[in-house]
Amino acid sequence: MNWSDRWDTSMMKNYGRPPLLLVQGKGSRVWDDSGNEYIDLIAGIAVNALGHGHPAFVQAITDQLNTIGHTSNLYATEPGLLLAERLLELSQAPIGSRVFFCNSGAEANEAAFKLSRLTGRTHVVVAAGGFHGRTMGSLALTAQPAKQDPFRPLPGEVTVVPFGDTAALSSAVTPDTAAVFLEPIQGEGGVIVAPTGYLASARADCDKYGALLIVDEVQTGIGRTGQWFAYQSHNVVPDVVTLAKGLGGGLPIGALVAFGEAAELFTPGSHGSTFGGNPISARAALTVLDVIEKEGLLGHVQEVSKRLASELPAASNGFVSSVRGEGLLLAAVLEGLSSSDVELKLRSHGLLTNAVAPNAIRLAPPLNLPTADVDEVIQRWGRAFQELGT
Ligand SMILES: *Cc1c(COP(=O)(O)O)cnc(C)c1O
Repeated sequence: MNWSDRWDTSMMKNYGRPPLLLVQGKGSRVWDDSGNEYIDLIAGIAVNALGHGHPAFVQAITDQLNTIGHTSNLYATEPGLLLAERLLELSQAPIGSRVFFCNSGAEANEAAFKLSRLTGRTHVVVAAGGFHGRTMGSLALTAQPAKQDPFRPLPGEVTVVPFGDTAALSSAVTPDTAAVFLEPIQGEGGVIVAPTGYLASARADCDKYGALLIVDEVQTGIGRTGQWFAYQSHNVVPDVVTLAKGLGGGLPIGALVAFGEAAELFTPGSHGSTFGGNPISARAALTVLDVIEKEGLLGHVQEVSKRLASELPAASNGFVSSVRGEGLLLAAVLEGLSSSDVELKLRSHGLLTNAVAPNAIRLAPPLNLPTADVDEVIQRWGRAFQELGT
């Protein structure tokens, strides 16, 4: 029996049957079990920030495993401590800010949701089309009815407002509001960028009633948009930032950075995680941050982004009207083609992408996608769209 039939037999049915069995990765490239090579433009869903098998990354986690691999939160370890300090520094958090580590994006938002309850309030405001995770708590914040409806009742008192509508958000925040959860760019929702001034307006709404502004940077954080954190280009200071995906560069880790007074809400016994901040994942994350800095990847992300945004539409045979997003979280907006057909065609030309919306293809390549590979991406893309036109 081939692997895909075996997959169908042994795996739960929550995912569609995957199109490929990937057996190897190096840099921006991956190979399937038939030896076909692909440029990985989705990077494990915006996770593999340094691509596959970056030597410094492999060395760091190997060293760490040879030193001390797991202790649980009963003991302190150096990588976890260093990572917390580094995240506070990079997020320019005020004195008194603090970090909590977990293992995933859903867990980071779950922790933020619990933290918000400790304000003594229970009402939460979220944006339609947002994505904050799949656990019961984070799912309650994920305003996508198809994902939520089979699992009701979910934790309550969540008001949903249209994303990007400042007036709607202002009227939803009240003296009972514990928190507003927002993504700077809705990633799973189709790579929809918050309009200029939206986060600042949300900040003002939260300040008016003492609600927490919780910015979900699980997908946008850690250099993805060409800034350390996407909120940094919005001229706001959040109360809480949630992180995961790219932070560990492929090892599971999530984090909550709580700014100022919000950092005091968790008290002994409030919350915990056995694996959270374990030395291997923390060392992996420290290495991601070091390499982004040493290799100048924030600037590189901005340059590659500009090229893709300008050159992909031109190479699309008239089928791409625009490219939206920031940094290396981009979506090519299709005209007259379905994204699933395009994803398939691109794959047959050696490009892994993701049909994030019926009319949009998401690109979230490694942050260190080499310049030579950008040329190759544009050529392969052009050939795929030529074929789509015939
Ligand atoms: C992916 C994602 C999550 C959930 O992360 P998991 O690690 O899959 O639980 C939460 N928020 C945002 C913005 C995401 O993109």
